Amino acid sequence: KIVDIPNEEWKLILPPDLYAVAREAATERPFTGKYNDFDVNGEYYCAVCGNHLFGSTAKFASSCGWPSFFEADKNGVKYTRDSSHGMERIEVLCKRCNSHLGHVFNDGPVPTWVRYCMNSISLDFQRDKK
Ligand code: FE
Repeated sequence: KIVDIPNEEWKLILPPDLYAVAREAATERPFTGKYNDFDVNGEYYCAVCGNHLFGSTAKFASSCGWPSFFEADKNGVKYTRDSSHGMERIEVLCKRCNSHLGHVFNDGPVPTWVRYCMNSISLDFQRDKK
Protein backbone atom coordinates (compact mmCIF):
# COMPACT_ATOMS: atom_id res chain seq x y z
CA LYS A 1 0.00 0.00 0.00
CA ILE A 2 1.32 3.44 -0.93
CA VAL A 3 1.95 6.00 1.79
CA ASP A 4 1.02 9.39 0.35
CA ILE A 5 1.64 12.11 2.91
CA PRO A 6 2.55 15.66 1.82
CA ASN A 7 5.89 17.12 2.89
CA GLU A 8 4.20 19.73 5.08
CA GLU A 9 3.00 16.85 7.24
CA TRP A 10 6.24 14.89 7.07
CA LYS A 11 8.00 18.00 8.33
CA LEU A 12 5.93 17.84 11.52
CA ILE A 13 6.53 14.11 11.97
CA LEU A 14 10.16 13.48 11.05
CA PRO A 15 13.35 14.60 12.81
CA PRO A 16 14.90 17.50 10.83
CA ASP A 17 17.98 15.55 9.70
CA LEU A 18 15.85 12.69 8.37
CA TYR A 19 13.42 15.11 6.75
CA ALA A 20 16.28 16.84 4.91
CA VAL A 21 17.53 13.58 3.37
CA ALA A 22 14.28 11.67 2.90
CA ARG A 23 12.06 14.48 1.69
CA GLU A 24 14.52 17.05 0.29
CA ALA A 25 17.13 14.64 -1.12
CA ALA A 26 19.99 16.00 0.98
CA THR A 27 23.07 13.77 1.29
CA GLU A 28 24.63 12.98 4.64
CA ARG A 29 28.36 13.62 4.90
CA PRO A 30 30.47 10.60 3.90
CA PHE A 31 31.89 8.36 6.63
CA THR A 32 29.44 9.77 9.19
CA GLY A 33 26.41 7.49 8.83
CA LYS A 34 25.63 4.82 11.37
CA TYR A 35 25.57 1.99 8.80
CA ASN A 36 28.65 2.96 6.77
CA ASP A 37 31.16 0.89 8.72
CA PHE A 38 28.69 -1.74 9.85
CA ASP A 39 28.47 -5.45 9.10
CA VAL A 40 25.76 -7.29 11.02
CA ASN A 41 23.34 -9.90 9.71
CA GLY A 42 19.85 -8.50 9.34
CA GLU A 43 17.45 -6.50 7.24
CA TYR A 44 17.26 -2.85 6.27
CA TYR A 45 13.96 -0.97 6.17
CA CYS A 46 12.86 2.51 5.14
CA ALA A 47 13.40 4.80 8.15
CA VAL A 48 10.30 6.76 7.20
CA CYS A 49 7.69 4.06 6.51
CA GLY A 50 9.23 0.68 7.41
CA ASN A 51 9.20 -0.78 3.90
CA HIS A 52 11.78 -3.56 3.38
CA LEU A 53 14.67 -2.32 1.20
CA PHE A 54 17.83 -4.43 1.54
CA GLY A 55 19.23 -7.55 3.13
CA SER A 56 22.63 -7.51 4.79
CA THR A 57 23.67 -10.33 2.42
CA ALA A 58 23.72 -7.68 -0.35
CA LYS A 59 25.80 -5.18 1.66
CA PHE A 60 29.46 -4.74 0.83
CA ALA A 61 32.37 -2.58 1.99
CA SER A 62 32.58 -0.03 -0.81
CA SER A 63 34.93 2.53 0.82
CA CYS A 64 32.83 5.35 -0.66
CA GLY A 65 31.69 6.57 2.76
CA TRP A 66 28.07 5.46 2.59
CA PRO A 67 26.43 2.08 3.18
CA SER A 68 26.45 0.21 -0.12
CA PHE A 69 24.48 -2.73 -1.45
CA PHE A 70 24.73 -4.67 -4.71
CA GLU A 71 21.04 -5.53 -4.79
CA ALA A 72 17.75 -4.06 -3.57
CA ASP A 73 14.37 -5.54 -2.77
CA LYS A 74 12.48 -5.18 -6.07
CA ASN A 75 9.31 -4.44 -4.16
CA GLY A 76 11.10 -1.95 -1.94
CA VAL A 77 12.63 0.65 -4.23
CA LYS A 78 11.89 2.63 -7.35
CA TYR A 79 14.04 4.81 -9.58
CA THR A 80 14.01 8.20 -11.19
CA ARG A 81 16.44 10.20 -13.28
CA ASP A 82 18.32 12.85 -11.29
CA SER A 83 20.07 15.61 -13.26
CA SER A 84 20.81 17.81 -10.23
CA HIS A 85 24.25 19.13 -9.17
CA GLY A 86 25.57 18.91 -12.74
CA MET A 87 25.47 15.12 -12.74
CA GLU A 88 23.39 12.45 -14.43
CA ARG A 89 22.45 9.95 -11.76
CA ILE A 90 19.72 7.47 -10.97
CA GLU A 91 17.97 8.35 -7.75
CA VAL A 92 16.67 5.52 -5.55
CA LEU A 93 13.43 6.10 -3.66
CA CYS A 94 11.25 4.06 -1.34
CA LYS A 95 8.53 2.50 -3.46
CA ARG A 96 6.03 2.82 -0.64
CA CYS A 97 6.47 6.37 0.71
CA ASN A 98 8.55 8.03 -2.03
CA SER A 99 11.34 9.01 0.37
CA HIS A 100 14.81 9.66 -1.01
CA LEU A 101 17.27 6.88 -0.17
CA GLY A 102 20.33 7.59 -2.32
CA HIS A 103 21.58 6.74 -5.82
CA VAL A 104 22.57 3.64 -7.77
CA PHE A 105 25.77 3.47 -9.83
CA ASN A 106 27.23 0.98 -12.31
CA ASP A 107 30.48 0.41 -10.41
CA GLY A 108 29.47 -2.30 -7.99
CA PRO A 109 30.85 -5.78 -7.37
CA VAL A 110 29.75 -9.21 -8.50
CA PRO A 111 27.14 -10.53 -9.00
CA THR A 112 25.22 -7.43 -10.17
CA TRP A 113 27.98 -4.85 -10.80
CA VAL A 114 25.79 -2.13 -9.35
CA ARG A 115 26.24 -0.10 -6.18
CA TYR A 116 23.29 1.21 -4.24
CA CYS A 117 24.84 4.16 -2.41
CA MET A 118 22.51 4.88 0.49
CA ASN A 119 22.16 7.42 3.26
CA SER A 120 22.34 5.68 6.64
CA ILE A 121 19.72 7.97 8.07
CA SER A 122 17.19 6.77 5.48
CA LEU A 123 17.62 3.19 6.76
CA ASP A 124 16.45 1.33 9.82
CA PHE A 125 18.24 -1.91 10.61
CA GLN A 126 16.82 -4.97 12.31
CA ARG A 127 19.18 -7.71 13.38
CA ASP A 128 18.30 -11.27 12.37
CA LYS A 129 16.52 -13.14 15.14
CA LYS A 130 17.99 -16.46 16.09
FE1 FE B 1 9.38 4.42 2.84
